Amino acid sequence: MSRPLSDHDKKKQISVRGLAGVENVADLKTNFNRHLHFTLVKDRNVATKRDYYFALAHTVRDHLVGRWIRTQQHYYEKDPKRVYYLSLEFYMGRTLQNTMVNLALENACDEATYQLGLDMEELEDIEEDAGLGNGGLGRLAACFLDSMASLGLAAYGYGIRYEFGIFNQKIVNGWQVEEADDWLRYGNPWEKARPEYTRPVHFYGRVEHHPDGVKWVDTQVVLALPYDTPVPGYRNNVVNTMRLWSAKAPCDFNLKDFNVGGYIQAVLDRNLAENISRVLYPNDNFFEGKELRLKQEYFVVAATLQDIVRRFKASKFGSREIVRTDFTALPDKVAIQLNDTHPAMAIPELMRVLVDEEKLPWDEAWDISVRTCAYTNHTVLPEALERWPIDLFHHLLPRHLEIIYEINRRHMERVEAMFPGDVDRMRRMSLIEEGPQKKVNMAHLCIVGSHAVNGVARIHSDILKATVFKDFYEMEPDKFQNKTNGITPRRWLVMCNPGLAEVIAERIGEDFVRDLDQLKELLNFIDDDAFIRDVANVKQENKLKFAVHLQDHYKVIINPNSMFDLQVKRIHEYKRQLLNCLHIITYYNRIRKEPNHDWTPRTIMIGGKVPHIRVTLAEKVVTFITLQGHPAGGHIHQHYRVKVIFLENYRITLAEKAIPAADLSEQISTAGTEASGTGNMKFMLNGALTIGTMDGANVEMAEEAGGQPVHLRHEGGGRGRHGRQGVRGRGHGPKGEKEEYYNSLPELKQAMDQIAGGFFSPKQPDLFKDIVSMLMHHDRFKVFADYEDYIQCQDKVNELYKDPKEWTKKVIHNIAGCGKFSSDRTISQYAREIWGVEPNPERSPPRRRAVAKQPQPARHAGVREIQP
Ligand SMILES: *Cc1c(COP(=O)(O)O)cnc(C)c1O
Repeated sequence: MSRPLSDHDKKKQISVRGLAGVENVADLKTNFNRHLHFTLVKDRNVATKRDYYFALAHTVRDHLVGRWIRTQQHYYEKDPKRVYYLSLEFYMGRTLQNTMVNLALENACDEATYQLGLDMEELEDIEEDAGLGNGGLGRLAACFLDSMASLGLAAYGYGIRYEFGIFNQKIVNGWQVEEADDWLRYGNPWEKARPEYTRPVHFYGRVEHHPDGVKWVDTQVVLALPYDTPVPGYRNNVVNTMRLWSAKAPCDFNLKDFNVGGYIQAVLDRNLAENISRVLYPNDNFFEGKELRLKQEYFVVAATLQDIVRRFKASKFGSREIVRTDFTALPDKVAIQLNDTHPAMAIPELMRVLVDEEKLPWDEAWDISVRTCAYTNHTVLPEALERWPIDLFHHLLPRHLEIIYEINRRHMERVEAMFPGDVDRMRRMSLIEEGPQKKVNMAHLCIVGSHAVNGVARIHSDILKATVFKDFYEMEPDKFQNKTNGITPRRWLVMCNPGLAEVIAERIGEDFVRDLDQLKELLNFIDDDAFIRDVANVKQENKLKFAVHLQDHYKVIINPNSMFDLQVKRIHEYKRQLLNCLHIITYYNRIRKEPNHDWTPRTIMIGGKVPHIRVTLAEKVVTFITLQGHPAGGHIHQHYRVKVIFLENYRITLAEKAIPAADLSEQISTAGTEASGTGNMKFMLNGALTIGTMDGANVEMAEEAGGQPVHLRHEGGGRGRHGRQGVRGRGHGPKGEKEEYYNSLPELKQAMDQIAGGFFSPKQPDLFKDIVSMLMHHDRFKVFADYEDYIQCQDKVNELYKDPKEWTKKVIHNIAGCGKFSSDRTISQYAREIWGVEPNPERSPPRRRAVAKQPQPARHAGVREIQP
């Protein structure tokens, strides 16, 4: 009988993890020891686990350096059109494993660390997440960087190097407590500061109009210091750059004003300037009109545009020899993509640079600017749309406000010319909203100032054209496009679920990693019992691993044979965690009533952070969920075959552990409210079935999963009993509608009465009364309207789960339909249809010799490896 394979041996067999050649391993060990000695300045007697992580990170990083320099050299020489992805968020997560995956170093590093007596997974777990994002929008930017590099685009991500990313969430007595995310405390081995490229950014001041042009004077200057992070493509030798700006006070900051308190106070006040890049605003789909946030938005834009213009001028087209740069070539050499309206100031800033600084006539500058910029819309929720008060603008960026007024004046002229006398249309389309407080509508600015406007899933793009931006669509229909979101299969399959990746690779080879459409070849194995068994086994292993993780870290014990039912995403009314809660209560009541029935055991896990601005209601949702999971306060528990867990501090790293373990993915937003969703795609790719509304990308996922009813779904959006209603109305519906649901659905009534009566919070019977009153009287998102369909659909899920083979076959159908949801497909479409560049999925563009050779391993005594 052969010995069962250890975890380590099992991993070595997995080919998608790269080959562990003897030479590679020996080199890695040498370099690891060299970094421990020279970079960390430690020996193995005193080194900590964190030192070992850093030594490994530096060892892996060395493999990026030559490729990074060579790629940038190549761009300089070939001068292709550059793509600039501007985003206030890059939700990157960890970097070490991703780098090893993309460079095919994972197995070799695993072997090297193993031979050194270390556990690579344990070291990987020491890395902090780069949590510079809130949720979907920030993670999309991160997936796009991976795909742009993997497709060989000359692309850059530009954003802010927040000193504190998204807060860490602790649950204390059922309530969310936020902790600062001090992610840079131990240093960041993946970034390289570039102080030599520091750029000035101006604020405040006033505008002077002279015969020879406009001057913005008496400004305050803050310096923008760039930090570069390498972005490797998947096994193609390309390494692009993500450049994040950090705010730095100039040396003379406040020193000119001798009356403000002297030298000491001036030095202390440097913080005021440097606060700009201190912290990420933790709002997801919500606009908070704070001055510091507007400063952040302009800061990233102003610094980035200086880079873009400098790089353009230094290129052949910019032609240094000729006296004047030919800016008419800019749209042929540069594409700027705005990730939502957050970097919208790029439009007036580019105009300011071209008109005020480069002295171009307005019309010429405007034509260049529009052809360079493109805008992606991410939401239709009115509370999320950025509308900045004019007063704030006037104070902080007086020249930009003038430029926006001039853009609007010309825009209004065009509206008037096309729709003479339609005053109401002009009011609706203005960049300036009238009212008690005048505001700049940033979405309108972006539409007018871009040559392409896109939504992020087909239904969302259709809603933009039909409702939110209807007037703009009628004026310029050709501007409007769709680019359905995607996720990178490197992080969200190969990296987080190597078991599944391997089982797939055994059947269809490894090329699906760069060409996800190939997953449809799995349909050839839909009746292959061995394949069905392999897929089911991988899921079971992932569930066990996650159960062990929860036990080790949170001391909760869950049943790995129960259905893992997950809803992980930001907590939001429109995402309807409360609909999930109503199902939980209903299921629990049924089990109590009929304890001997053959109920499908479920572990329901809900996780997500609460936006800090509107904590009251959302926080109570968290509290409700956590109390059920709590051994003392929980009414709903394992004894009744249903257990509720709140997953604390949901973030990229937790997503990577939880999603591969999921059986059921909850995607139940009110139809018309979730622009796309990307969590939905991660679950689908990792072999979970979806229960979802026909919203966002769910619609296209159901389509791609093929003819079979692979998607368990209800309709959502209040369809059914009362017909379909718009979700953007006042949300009150016909009078008495919600009472009608309550009175006609006995199980709903029972659940609501229990919540209202303090059944789930006996010590504080009134705790959830505002949840009750919201659901009963002013729910904008129609939870009651979908309750009945949702419960019925969950019943079907339970039935299907009782037949493991049928379940797994549907899972395989789902995985086979995932091709469309690779961000490689999304980026190829942006490239061809918006940016005018051609993606190049070739494996290895011609390799040139690096300027410097790879650093040679140093010989030194005193550092010896320890054999296990
Ligand atoms: C993918 C992802 C999201 C987005 O999830 P949705 O369900 O699409 O809202 C949010 N947070 C994290 C950590 C993610 O990885």
